[in-house]
Amino acid sequence: MTPDARAHRPASDAGTVAAPLPAYRDEWERRAFDDPNLLGDIAFAVNGPFHLMYPERVGRNIRGFQEVFAQSGVAGSIYFGKKANKAACVARACAEHDTGVDVASVGELTAALAQGVRGSDLMVTGPEKSGELLWLAARHGALIAMDSMSELDRVAALGVPVRVLLRVLPTASASRFGMSPEELEQAQRTAATTPSVRVEGFSFHLSGYDPVPRAELAAELVDRCLAARTLGHPATTISVGGGFGVDYVPGPAWAAFTGQVSRRWFHSGKKFQSYYPYHFPEPGPAMLAAVLGHQGLADRLRSADIGLAIEPGRALLDRAGSTVFRVQGSKTRHEHGQPYQLLTVDGSSLSLSEQWFDSEYLPDPLPWPPRQGTPTPTVVGATTCLESDMLSWRRVPLPRPAAPGDLLVYPNTAGYQMDSNESAFHELPIPPKVVLHDAPGGRFRWTLDAG
Ligand SMILES: *Cc1c(COP(=O)(O)O)cnc(C)c1O
Repeated sequence: MTPDARAHRPASDAGTVAAPLPAYRDEWERRAFDDPNLLGDIAFAVNGPFHLMYPERVGRNIRGFQEVFAQSGVAGSIYFGKKANKAACVARACAEHDTGVDVASVGELTAALAQGVRGSDLMVTGPEKSGELLWLAARHGALIAMDSMSELDRVAALGVPVRVLLRVLPTASASRFGMSPEELEQAQRTAATTPSVRVEGFSFHLSGYDPVPRAELAAELVDRCLAARTLGHPATTISVGGGFGVDYVPGPAWAAFTGQVSRRWFHSGKKFQSYYPYHFPEPGPAMLAAVLGHQGLADRLRSADIGLAIEPGRALLDRAGSTVFRVQGSKTRHEHGQPYQLLTVDGSSLSLSEQWFDSEYLPDPLPWPPRQGTPTPTVVGATTCLESDMLSWRRVPLPRPAAPGDLLVYPNTAGYQMDSNESAFHELPIPPKVVLHDAPGGRFRWTLDAG
């Protein structure tokens, strides 16, 4: 759990080299990285960039949330927000740990079922869902979050029993999702006169990563559940959605970055408006504990006999994967007279998605194999013909120069980075997902993901 032992260098070199952002690395990541052959052998077999997945870590992340629920005495249910990673091994880990999956398309629903997730453990979200998705969800006994009155009417017209949550538009929110208080009242009345529709509770999903608004909206919904019961609905579940933060880098490194960040640190003076909060002091399960602890929410839920559902995507993937590119070439460039290395790797930023949200993935990549050397400011370009296709615009202080044939390992990429924008642009192959399994003797065996 300790950060890399690289020293925090001050922003010297006339201020052209970015502050380092060394990622926390799990034991499995170190073991894979330090193995003299593993990564090189996989790269040889795959013959291109690839994503590494370690589903054991997903299991550990799930257990972290389960323990918080157990300690609070609140009945908890976890639904993995599947859009954060498509790998079959993640859905399988959810099934193995009695965890549900939050899906929003027929493809996601069938992929989850195929890995052993039961229909009754699925949550179906997304706006105005397709008729096919609603029908399949109803057939499989999934819990369906209703985003609008018209959707509720369509579900009622299916004529089969359906379990629904009503998705709430938070007060003063400009979100396009959820129903206003008037729409919620109307939806409850419609459902009360439609015996096939069972309102099991309410849901929401907020942007940002603050536990307080989640706890406060959940508390409001306790009263809504109690009122819904007077109309004959079971109303036993409140879903607070996802948005549980992930802690990628230590606090001091993040403070040094955010305190001094300037476009002088970036290739061609590139400027980004905002970044994910890569240091997050109360990540994942700790944030759930903060939600439950805020103004006695856990007590209120227990005494009203209401269970709390959560839909974490990114947080279940924390430290469960990394992305590996091969270095194809290296040039030297200068900024204010200071040299830096411009690498070209064999993939594109479509496999490190943050660039496609007009931001940059900041945890530092590492060159493999590990070797002593001179710290070297480095930016990383893709193998495509787009000027803008860079994996790292920031001059990352790599611990040594990287050379053609080396690998470049981006840490902790399983949450959203790997596949949300994957495409065969330029007729480049889509990087496969390689799943690591523990083998006797502390070794790894690997397979290609079944997805
Ligand atoms: C995207 C999404 C999630 C997952 O969000 P994370 O930030 O990855 O935890 C959960 N619920 C809904 C409705 C979503 O749209």
